[in-house]
Parts: sequence; C-alpha cells; structure tokens
Amino acid sequence: MVFRIIPRHDPVMALRLNRQLMAVYSYSLVWAGIFMGMQLGIFSPDTPHLLLFGALLAFNMLVYFLIRTGVSTLLDDPSMTVAQMLSAIVLITLLLHYAEEMRGAMISIYFMVMTFGVFALDRRKMIAMSGMVMLAFSGLIVYEIIATPEKVIFGIVFGQWSILLLGLIWFVFVGGYIHNLQQRIREQRESLRDSHSRLEETYIQLSEAMERLAEIAVRDSLTGLYNRRHFIDRLEEAIALAERSGDSFHLALIDLDHFKKVNDSHGHQVGDNILQRFANIARQTLRRSDVLARYGGEEFIVLFPEGGAEDIAEVLERLRENFSTLIHDDLVAGLRVTLSAGLANWRPGDNADNLTLRADEALYTAKHKGRNRLEVA
Ligand code: GH3
Ligand code: MG
Ligand code: MG
Repeated sequence: MVFRIIPRHDPVMALRLNRQLMAVYSYSLVWAGIFMGMQLGIFSPDTPHLLLFGALLAFNMLVYFLIRTGVSTLLDDPSMTVAQMLSAIVLITLLLHYAEEMRGAMISIYFMVMTFGVFALDRRKMIAMSGMVMLAFSGLIVYEIIATPEKVIFGIVFGQWSILLLGLIWFVFVGGYIHNLQQRIREQRESLRDSHSRLEETYIQLSEAMERLAEIAVRDSLTGLYNRRHFIDRLEEAIALAERSGDSFHLALIDLDHFKKVNDSHGHQVGDNILQRFANIARQTLRRSDVLARYGGEEFIVLFPEGGAEDIAEVLERLRENFSTLIHDDLVAGLRVTLSAGLANWRPGDNADNLTLRADEALYTAKHKGRNRLEVA
C-alpha cells in the first residue's frame, strides 16, 4: 500500500489535512519574510527564528500525525483548529517582540490566523479567539512596559492596539457571516442530496411498476401464458423474419376436447383448474424458444421458430400424451381430459391469417377423426 500525505478514501480527513498543510505553507512564507527582514536589518538580529519555527514545525507535525492517524477524531475539534490557531498566536506574539519598526505591518499576520478560524469556528469561538489575540498582544505590551520602558512609545502602542481590536471585531462579524453562509450552503447541499436520493428511489419504484405492468399486459391472468395480442405480435415478427431469410417455421393450434362437458358436469372451477394444469404441462414439455399462448377459451397456440416438422410433431405428440394420460382424481374421481392439435408450417406468401387458418383446418380434421390426436396440415 502506498502512503499518501492526503488520503483519498476519507474526504473529511483530506479537507482537515489540506487546511493544516495550508497553515504550514503560511508559516514558511512568514519565516521567509522574517529571514529577509533580518538580512535587511529591520528585524532584530537575535530573533530566535530557528527555535520558534522549529518548535512550530514540531507542533504541526504532531497535529498532522493526530489527524492523519484518525486519533484527532476522538477530540471535540477533530480538525484541531483551535490548537493550531493558539500556537500561531503565540508564535506571532513572540515574533512581534523582535519586530522593531516592522511591528505595525506584522500585526496583520494575526488576521491571517483568524482567516483559518472563519471556516471552522462559530461566532462564539471566533470571539474567544479574538480575546486570545488581544490578551497575547496586551501581555506583550505590558511585558515591554515593565522590561524596556524607554523603548515604548505610548501613542504608537495604543494605535496598534486599537487597530488590532477593530480588525478583530470586523473579523468576528464578517467571519460569522461567512461561517453562517457556509453552513447554510452545506445544509442546502444535504437536503438536495436527500431529495435526489428520494427521487432516485421513486424512479426505481416507477420502473419496477412499469415492468410489472408490461408483464401483466402480455400475460393471460388465469394461466400465466402469453395472451393472444402478444402472440400475434410475435407471429408477425416471425413472418417478417421468415420472409427475409426464407426459412420456414411452424404453428400449432391446440384445443381441449369436449371441454364444455367438463364445465357443464363439474363446474367452471374444475374447468379453470384443468386449463392451468394444461399450461403447466405445456410449459414443461415445450422448448424455451417455443412461444406458447392462450389463444382464447380452451384454445392454445404455439409458435415453433425452429425445428423440422417431424421433431415438432414429436414434441406435440408428447404433450398430448402427457396431458391426456393425466387423471384428475383430486378434482373429480376418474376425470381425464384430452386434446386435439393441428400443425401447419409457414409457406412463402402466408400471412398470419392464412397460416392460422391452415392450422385450424388441421385441428378440425383432428377433431373430426375422433379427437385426442394431432393432424399435420
Ligand atoms: P370440442 O372437443 O369440439 O372442442 O368440444 P368443446 O366442448 O371443447 O368445444 P366448445 O368450443 O364448444 O366449448 C369450449 C368450452 O370451453 C366453452 C366454455 O364452457 C369453456 N371455456 C372457455 N373458456 C373457459 C374458461 O376460461 N374457463 C372455463 N372453466 N371454461 C372455459
Ligand atoms: Mg374444445
Ligand atoms: Mg374450442
């Protein structure tokens, strides 16, 4: 596994670390400025810059370690913003001590620190942080009044102190405003994400409902077989295909024998059960590529897209056998129902009506010859 300074798997951690690295860049800039100032003689030559920035670097490495290992998530403030800001305030205050004439310009670095707070701290914490800045700066002034009173020019010190105070007040207001704005954007984004996922859910439900509807639309409700309308669509497709390829296909009509008698003697419910049993047996006996439909009443129709007449006749013969030998003792003792079938093959020039008619004629012949049999047109 490759170690990444900023991990990819955890965007929240990445944001915290990015912010922390940004602070390190800022420190480097300040350090470069101090170093240059020392060379130009506008910063005290005995500024302990190595010690100060070394300590700061060590502290930042600790912060990085705590965030990167996830230990910081155990804290109240996982981004450790407050700790980082406090360390920066201490550093700046110490630097100001050595700043000499540059102090006025250097004060603005406190505002750099406050900028980091805008993204992470609410108004209350910003006020507390401003208090810390004022406390640190005032402490420095008091220290200098006691230690080196001859160097202190009250007018300038008071001016700097006031400007710092005004700047911090401004930061608390504008920062608070930006913070609230950011919060509101975050909330809006979340509610947008919520409604988006709700919309997605609804879409999936709708798609499923439409799929179910489409399925219902092509099925016969009693037997679950395809209905007549869907079958005719499939037959038209098969005819179009045959016209293009020249390859023939077969069509069979199946009609249960003396079914009216079954209904009349044993009731409609028994008839319905028999129809369902026929559907199950036909489903099991036919091949997956064969299209089986309920054509109406106790009549069924099968499209055989492939296979020779002999094979198909054999399949139909097996279906007839399987169904006709069944004794429906559980419905009516000794009840047996047979079927008759007519098979026709598509010839060039046939449309759906011609073809069905020829299968129907074969079926009529089968009925005429005594039923429970298959006739080929
Ligand atoms: P044949 O051997 O000549 O086909 O005689 P048949 O009695 O089967 O012929 P006919 O077409 O006159 O009768 C079909 C009967 O099928 C009429 C009706 O009582 C029954 N039938 C049609 N649809 C249903 C249905 O959905 N459920 C039930 N239970 N019976 C049905
Ligand atoms: Mg019948
Ligand atoms: Mg009939």
